[in-house]
Amino acid sequence: MLKGFTSARLACGCRIGFREGVEGSPVTVVVDEKGPGCPLSLHVRDLPLFDHREAMRPSTRLLPPNEEEYEES
Ligand SMILES: [Zn+2]
Repeated sequence: MLKGFTSARLACGCRIGFREGVEGSPVTVVVDEKGPGCPLSLHVRDLPLFDHREAMRPSTRLLPPNEEEYEES
């Protein structure tokens, strides 16, 4: 074990750290070191990146409703 802390470097140059969240919360991702060439304003040193993977996932709410399921006449 690494004391519950590991780090990784993003493609943008930032280095992020993974810290085990508190009870009832998933792992917290924080920017450990801001990359000098990082264009993302969301990446700020020591700023947690919550729901990182959630934000990367495309929204499914843009799909039109399937009205065929409501044809019960
Ligand atoms: Zn970055």
